[in-house]
Amino acid sequence: MDSTTRKLAIVVPCYNEEGVLVRSVPELLAVTEKLAAEGEISPASYVLCVDDGSQDGTWAEICALSSEHSGRVRGVRLAHNRGHQYALLAGLMEARRDCDAAVSIDADLQDPPSVISAMVRKWSGEGDEIVYGVRSSRQTDTWFKRNSARGFYKLQRSMGVDTIYDHADFRLMSRRALDLLSEYHEQNLFLRGIVPQIGLKTGIVTYERAHRVAGESKYPLKKMLAFSIDGITSFSARPMRWIFYTGVVLLLLDIAVALYVIFSRMFGHVALGWSSLILSVWFLGSLILIAIGMVGEYIGKIFTEVKARPRYAISDRIGF
Ligand code: UDP
Ligand code: MG
Repeated sequence: MDSTTRKLAIVVPCYNEEGVLVRSVPELLAVTEKLAAEGEISPASYVLCVDDGSQDGTWAEICALSSEHSGRVRGVRLAHNRGHQYALLAGLMEARRDCDAAVSIDADLQDPPSVISAMVRKWSGEGDEIVYGVRSSRQTDTWFKRNSARGFYKLQRSMGVDTIYDHADFRLMSRRALDLLSEYHEQNLFLRGIVPQIGLKTGIVTYERAHRVAGESKYPLKKMLAFSIDGITSFSARPMRWIFYTGVVLLLLDIAVALYVIFSRMFGHVALGWSSLILSVWFLGSLILIAIGMVGEYIGKIFTEVKARPRYAISDRIGF
């Protein structure tokens, strides 16, 4: 494909970002202009703002920007606040109809727009279909956010969720990657887990993250925790297996407990009924855990079935 016909969409989820967009949208447009001037992308590339049911003047601002930069700023508005992941998906699925690649970036420009050029070059030059933006350090984060985020990645990995370390949702996806993403119909959306499952040729660009340009974070601790739990429970049925393993370990411990009880019974002074009570508590406890774990295994199967994820993705065809 001729690079000047490659249309890039920059998708920006916005929730109560009044006062932020007037600064960030022109900056994003400048990036597309520069890339278009260099012949990397089509001059018809555009910024797509997704208003995630904001309560402030975000939509009015998007409308004003759209009429100011006719054809180069588009907007979609969600009827309710659905959260960052859904707003992003809505934007990507809109963009899919009319772009060759889409970059997702937060409205606050904590992820530097200049990195988009590097992403586009990896896409057009090296043929990468998904390019992840990965933070080289977390200097601008508070100690708490830095460590809680790191802990979160580690926990997810230990549960078998495939995510990219220190990558948030700043990434480029080709049209083909977007088409494959559209095959995922799950309700609990955790894009950072789904995108690595898509496959295709991927690349990484690293960058330093800045502070917010204006406004404040919409991700307080409560939302962050909910997001982390979602990230694990949408991809892993492993916690249920742990229940099963705990039951098995307890069952093995029962042997030690039984020996202790028999020993106390023979050589110590034990109350009437103590031995049978202790033995049944331990034995039944482990059996109950094993039973719950077994039920969990079946629920885990149901869980993967109802997600109805695509079972495979064909990336190339020849000779048809
Ligand atoms: N956002 C959204 N819906 C929400 C919360 C946030 O679309 O319910 C957007 C927000 O406007 C921003 C991005 O998601 O563009 C990231 O949010 P924020 O910068 O507040 O998160 P942080 O960078 O602090 O993790
Ligand atoms: Mg932010």
